[in-house]
Amino acid sequence: MAHRYVYFFGGGKADGREGLKDLLGGKGANLAEMAGHSDLKLPVPPGFTITTEVCTYFYKNRRTYPKGLKQEVNASLKKIEKLMGRVFGDSNNPLLVSVRSGARRSMPGMMETVLNVGLTASTIPGLIKQSGGNERFVYDAYRRLIMMYSDVVMEKAAGIEPKDDESGIRKQLEKIMSQVKREKGYAGDTDLTAVDLKMLCKLFKDKIRELLGKEFPDDPSEQLWGGIGAVFSSWNGKRAVSYRRIERIPDEWGTAVNVQTMVFGNMGVDSATGVAFTRNPGNGESAFYGEYLINAQGEDVVAGIRTPAPINEYSKSEHNKDLITLEKAMPPLYRELFEYQQRLEKHYRDMQDIEFTIEKGRLFMLQCRVGKRNGPAAMKIAVDMLKEKLIDKRTAVMRVTPSQLDELLHPIINPKTEIGQKVLAKGLPAGPGGASGQIVFSANVAVEWNKQGKKVILVREETNPEDVEGMRAAQAILTARGGMTSHAALVARGWGKCCIVGCGGVHIDAKKKEMTADGKVFREGDWITLNGTKGNVYAGELPMMDAVEENTLFNDFLMLCDSLRNLGVRTNADTPEDARKGRQFGAEGIGLFRTEHMFYGKGSEEPLFRLRKMIMSKTEPERRRALNELFPYVKKDIKGTLEAMDGFPVVIRLLDPPLHEFVPRGEGKLEQLAADLQVSMTELAKRAENLHESNPMMGHRGVRLGITYPEVSEMQIRAVFEAAAELIQDGKRPYPEIMIPVVSDVKELHHQFAIAKKVYGEVLDKYGMKKMKHLMGTMIEIPRAALLSNQIAVVAQFFSFGTNDLTQMSFGFSRDDIGGFLPDYLAKGILPEDPFQSIDQEGIGELIEISIKRGRATRPGLEIGICGEHGGDPRSVEFCHCAGMDYVSCSPFRVPIARLAAAQAAIRYTKRVKTRRNKSPRRK
Ligand code: PEP
Ligand code: MG
Repeated sequence: MAHRYVYFFGGGKADGREGLKDLLGGKGANLAEMAGHSDLKLPVPPGFTITTEVCTYFYKNRRTYPKGLKQEVNASLKKIEKLMGRVFGDSNNPLLVSVRSGARRSMPGMMETVLNVGLTASTIPGLIKQSGGNERFVYDAYRRLIMMYSDVVMEKAAGIEPKDDESGIRKQLEKIMSQVKREKGYAGDTDLTAVDLKMLCKLFKDKIRELLGKEFPDDPSEQLWGGIGAVFSSWNGKRAVSYRRIERIPDEWGTAVNVQTMVFGNMGVDSATGVAFTRNPGNGESAFYGEYLINAQGEDVVAGIRTPAPINEYSKSEHNKDLITLEKAMPPLYRELFEYQQRLEKHYRDMQDIEFTIEKGRLFMLQCRVGKRNGPAAMKIAVDMLKEKLIDKRTAVMRVTPSQLDELLHPIINPKTEIGQKVLAKGLPAGPGGASGQIVFSANVAVEWNKQGKKVILVREETNPEDVEGMRAAQAILTARGGMTSHAALVARGWGKCCIVGCGGVHIDAKKKEMTADGKVFREGDWITLNGTKGNVYAGELPMMDAVEENTLFNDFLMLCDSLRNLGVRTNADTPEDARKGRQFGAEGIGLFRTEHMFYGKGSEEPLFRLRKMIMSKTEPERRRALNELFPYVKKDIKGTLEAMDGFPVVIRLLDPPLHEFVPRGEGKLEQLAADLQVSMTELAKRAENLHESNPMMGHRGVRLGITYPEVSEMQIRAVFEAAAELIQDGKRPYPEIMIPVVSDVKELHHQFAIAKKVYGEVLDKYGMKKMKHLMGTMIEIPRAALLSNQIAVVAQFFSFGTNDLTQMSFGFSRDDIGGFLPDYLAKGILPEDPFQSIDQEGIGELIEISIKRGRATRPGLEIGICGEHGGDPRSVEFCHCAGMDYVSCSPFRVPIARLAAAQAAIRYTKRVKTRRNKSPRRK
């Protein structure tokens, strides 16, 4: 058989199936599955899908189509005609179709759609007949076609760029429509009569001719091919391209085009249209949830023009509680829909998002896809479905993305403060959590202000796909109109962003940059706070707190992850407080305790003063005196952390930063220091001057300090061992791992470990002990050390990859100065992303793999972890799993994310959990 470009579905049969998503796009594959799978066979309006391969061909061949496509499309049209008993372009009994996009992954609202295709001067009477003489309905359908077609096909796809927002054809036609309504004194679109609409269609066509210099096509076939081409073109439209960038969707995928029989939810009061979810996408409760509109077209629900009604009691909210439910209005149809949604969820074993239309008392299923959900809902649905035995453990863990989990770690308004607050306005809770920010009324301003480091809340009448970048930049989104399935709600839910929609109490004047609520006027830049879980808007900035304390499911889910992962998760903690937080989040030890942090921030005055004394000392005795004074502080700090991590390993790193970072600035401090050291101010200034380095990051830091001043290492190592000895005597189980930073040669380690050996013996003697559990190891953060790992592992009992420095030193990119050039590297596609955020697997990854291989060749039991910031980045965690590390370590708040990412990596890349080394996915 010749290559197939078109897949038909309908009448209980389908050429495609769900597994063909790459070829048919998500929508096309699901339509085929719904229509043709033996478990489903749902009433899907018949249609066909033109494959993504055609899209690729289209772009490779100057926007032309492969040979044979036309014949395939015509053959499929014939099949539809046969099933529907209608004929495309027939004046007596016409068939109308919709033309829609459908990529592999859903890109809500980012591409174009044309509805009512096939409606022409000659088919209009036929449709009037089909609708039982409803002329108003037919001319309304016609004016929608003209509006959509001129905008999507004749302007956008033709590459015509209107000079501003207002001068585009759609806006011009909307203006004409508003003017007619104003002249006639109508309140809404529904007041327009058949005669008005007929006249409007004519005015529209005149305007199109005037503005675009072309006639609106009156030929059904021209309309169809115009629509198909426009959908393919919209794959490269501005919105779609920017959405793909944010969501990392490859440009090469292309979109499919779905051509499907039109069914009308706006053929009268026995018609309706709606969107529903098999479970609540806002909180994950297992209940059928949705909205619908009687006598309306699907776009009316999504666009948020009318407030939709709840489909059942469960779906009622403050906002729509007085509207009649579908369950009450059309009981048999509701029951039928209810049964289909159950079938769909059971079949797909996941929460489904369903679009349906009722045409003159007959139910049609238009679409189903895996429903977008926020973090709390994702977790609840995963855990519930596991309990219901719909899915297994691994599937449950794969159902929550690291960023959804992250949402649960994001702030909510502190409930104690919120109680007394006056609610300014109430809307629908479309995206949970809390957020405060300064009001902005346009997406552009949101992006700009965000760049300046401001927190903003995007306030709009309703959002549209053009606002997507601004929505991304905002802390939260507030819209005056729209329902739970409006554009703002869908996008926010997908991103886990705090969002309130349909907030009728808020009146927006975007031109004046003003918003009125509860009788008060708010201007651009004023602060408001949103509670997206309740739908409440408050004036001003309210305090936030972490959400996890409120969520009990969280621990159950993470324990599920723990049962599947084989990569350990530790935390980077510099204070006992951080250590406790890390433990609460499930860290199994500390992967990096940066001792120098005791010299920064709260409570650091006294130890810092002594450290400075030590730095400014000129002779060894002077330095030793200062070190003796510093010793109790260091010991206390280490002891607190070892105690908080009782039984778990704690990697304690010896002093790392260049000393000049601690040199005091400010006269008063210098004078005190001079007095204490008994030197003049001139002498002190000279000593400070001597510490100056041109390139401190590559200067006197890390192990080099210990080489020059062995007594500095000695003091720290003694503090570790004494702290541990005292804890042991108190019945605790400390487990220190002493780590030497910035090492480039094994001889540096020999030197430092000799000191450690001596101190260890002395401490054992002092406390009358025989041994203490501990390890001696090193950081691998210099490329030379990575390459010489076979030598280093002769003495080091553990390696910890300091990927911050390893990235800095391998790229030669200063980690503090990257802001000056990284944006250009990203914009010009030289680097795919910031290598300080996600490990550069190609280069740095190779160094790490070499180091692990060589290290373990020398010492098979070598403990290996990572403590650079990458330890909390999900893709880097996956890399660490595949490279065969023992653990990752990250900041306390990223510990849950690392636990999930480690479990997902184990599921993806290991057949049997608990094998040590896993095959790397790094190079394809
Ligand atoms: C590193 O270099 O990755 C590291 C953890 O150390 P620091 O960031 O303190 O230099
Ligand atoms: Mg480092």
